[in-house]
Amino acid sequence: MVAASGQRAVAKALIVGGGPAGDAVAAGLRDAGFDGEVVLVGAEPEPPYERPHLSKGYLLGTVPDQRLGLRPAEQYRELGIEVRQGERVIDLGVERRTAVLESGRAISWDVLCIATGSSARSLPGLDRALYLRELPDALVLRGILDGGGALDVIGAGFIGCEVAAAAIQKGCKVRVHEALAQPLLRVLGDELGNYLAREHRAHGVDLRLNVSALPKMDGPVLAGVGSEPRTHLAESAGLVVDRGIVVDGLGRTSAPNVFAAGDVTRFDCPPFEMRVRVEHFQTAQRQGFAVGRVMAGATEPYNEVPWFWSDQYDLNMQYVGAGLPWDQIAARGHLGRPPFTVFYLQQGRLVAAAGINDHHTIARTRRVMQARAAVTPDQLADPAFDLRRLLR
Ligand SMILES: Cc1cc2nc3c(=O)[nH]c(=O)nc-3n(C[C@H](O)[C@H](O)[C@H](O)COP(=O)(O)OP(=O)(O)OC[C@H]3O[C@@H](n4cnc5c(N)ncnc54)[C@H](O)[C@@H]3O)c2cc1C
Repeated sequence: MVAASGQRAVAKALIVGGGPAGDAVAAGLRDAGFDGEVVLVGAEPEPPYERPHLSKGYLLGTVPDQRLGLRPAEQYRELGIEVRQGERVIDLGVERRTAVLESGRAISWDVLCIATGSSARSLPGLDRALYLRELPDALVLRGILDGGGALDVIGAGFIGCEVAAAAIQKGCKVRVHEALAQPLLRVLGDELGNYLAREHRAHGVDLRLNVSALPKMDGPVLAGVGSEPRTHLAESAGLVVDRGIVVDGLGRTSAPNVFAAGDVTRFDCPPFEMRVRVEHFQTAQRQGFAVGRVMAGATEPYNEVPWFWSDQYDLNMQYVGAGLPWDQIAARGHLGRPPFTVFYLQQGRLVAAAGINDHHTIARTRRVMQARAAVTPDQLADPAFDLRRLLR
């Protein structure tokens, strides 16, 4: 940043939230040549880590603590990023450009990014339920799974399904209680939901669907009933919030010099020409990186079709899209016998795809969606049709 006199001003960037988005914002700032101070404040005691392991390898014991971190400590030093772990911001100080921490300390800033992520939605009336969002939650859950006893899981969303799979693999007796007719029904639809239900049951999960009242549960209970964007700081600061902090494709909020990135945002998504909110690790990283670059003066918006994965047993699911509604599906491969992919279309336009152990199809579909290339249901369903032909 250059001061009016032509001398370099001491510019300071503050990032609130030490998850993958905050980490990527800091890296993006440096990547675009920002040479002022970069301070990353995170409420968790750990430096930024890879949260998706918490419902998969960390529970199974295949991913140890040392492998959770997003980058080694020396890399933050090399990049000149000051990471303040275990500190919570309680006021962004948008007017005075000075944020206030819970400890009473204050941090001035010239440019700010909010990357406060999301928190697990709590289930009213079940005080003793466990939730899975942060490392200490996973540690408690891992202890339960290591014991090999019984576990009740409420909700057959991604967290519920992944935890159920890990618990079964650890020898637990697992009951899953889901209010809807299939696991992951809203995101994946009936066909794939039905397939997943069969898989979980085949692995020994007592899967109860269409549940309207929960039975008596004496043992440990894990609730995976969705998450909510942590928007309270932005709301108190008077920023525009609509089920997420509203940002444009450059990550700009409604206040000058205030940006936001990651799970907490509802952002302009050019491939779908609409504003979306997603909770995906890679989107948090890639959008965060782009926003960090913009904070340093770059002008390229984040412009990618969101993508995520989920691992359950030996099934790797990959999904491209933003959870938009659909009115037609097509399937490539034998639905129910991996590898296969289900495509979701709305008024003839491809809006999402979910593949099981079908990495190549998903990678190609992603490129087709990114290019906004027209594709018919017949082409999608035909395994002999190379989707890359649409890109020429
Ligand atoms: C168990 C689990 C499994 C997942 N698995 C997958 C998966 O398989 N694939 C996938 O794509 N996605 C997965 N996700 C989602 C993915 O982890 C998130 O999309 C991603 O972590 C979002 O990154 P973020 O930085 O925006 O937010 P977060 O990861 O939520 O990080 C936000 C950080 O900000 C901190 N913070 C909040 N408020 C303050 C404050 N006031 N002051 C300071 N710090 C603050 C929080 O403590 C937190 O550390 C999973 C999530 C969970 C919980």
